[in-house]
Amino acid sequence: MEAQLELESILLPGVDSKRPLVIAGPCSAETEEQVMNTARELAASGIKIFRAGIWKPRTRPGSFEGVGSVGLPWLQRVKRETGMYTAVEVATAQHVYEAIKYGIDMVWVGARTTANPFAVQEVADALRGTDMPILVKNPVNPDLELWIGALERLNRAGIKKLGVIHRGFSVYQKIKYRNDPQWQIAIELHRRIPNLPIINDPSHISGDSNLILEVSQQAMDLNFDGLIVESHECPAQAWSDAKQQVTPAHLKMILSDLVIREAMIGDKPRTELDELRQKIDLLDKQVVEIMAKRMSISEQIAKYKFENGVTVLQSRRYDEILQSRRKVAEENNLNPDFVVKLYEAIHEESVNRQTLVMQKLQKEKK
Ligand code: PEP
Ligand code: MN
Repeated sequence: MEAQLELESILLPGVDSKRPLVIAGPCSAETEEQVMNTARELAASGIKIFRAGIWKPRTRPGSFEGVGSVGLPWLQRVKRETGMYTAVEVATAQHVYEAIKYGIDMVWVGARTTANPFAVQEVADALRGTDMPILVKNPVNPDLELWIGALERLNRAGIKKLGVIHRGFSVYQKIKYRNDPQWQIAIELHRRIPNLPIINDPSHISGDSNLILEVSQQAMDLNFDGLIVESHECPAQAWSDAKQQVTPAHLKMILSDLVIREAMIGDKPRTELDELRQKIDLLDKQVVEIMAKRMSISEQIAKYKFENGVTVLQSRRYDEILQSRRKVAEENNLNPDFVVKLYEAIHEESVNRQTLVMQKLQKEKK
């Protein structure tokens, strides 16, 4: 189903329309002093929108759940003393009323809230009639329809200043990042709703202050509109998400290291061909990553074979692989001969690797 949204610009007066639009600030407002120190430094390096979590949705009870409404006057002070706009996360109608009461300029719906249509509806109803820009984080699970559904609920409540935040998707097994970016989902959202601003959240994607630049660069190369980055005056002492926060000085460096490439080719806008190529690039990356995982399992098998005195090559097993992959190819409308060729190459590499592992183990044994 195509989404039809009636949209207006989310740009606040005086905020540059140049990419990237940057929102920065601590994961959580902790104390008035921490908020003010962080805000002053960010404002001095040109940041125009200050984020701070007031109500924190935590996975497990007992961790710091935000200071609550007592932190809102601190954000008013940020606005008064630095001139920055302020942004907070809202998850209930009460949060929305409090944010409005304290003159918050922008709110976002968190990943756990987007996944719950009842909660999104409650927030949408409470926001009816405000002129604030609202950003919707992707749901924790990789479900594009659920993400679009949340946008539609807000739009039906009359909210037109809408944007999204791409913060990656939960994973069960450990990967390089805290959350799997699954960039193709954000790209598909852009294809479906082309004028919807997309802001990347490298902090919640990577979960690691050392990886903020690489994720931000990828977002810029995919032509995202902005970045929301967690920044704390002293990340090591943060009460939440300590590993992923950067100091304002570090953020300044990251932003100056970013290479911002033009989305236009000459005077032609990005074509459908470019977008399709981007999809291919991402899929190929996944294919190679999956291959790496396959090879590492293959090496574990080599260890097992070595310990149990079994040969590397097991012809029957190889035959079974080719037969079963041929069947999977047919089921997926692929040419089985092509898939068999592919598996001959994969198997050859796998045998080579296993042989090397066994030789190494044999040497170590001597
Ligand atoms: C946050 O931005 O601090 C936050 C809680 O993010 P998310 O909803 O993406 O987990
Ligand atoms: Mn956080």
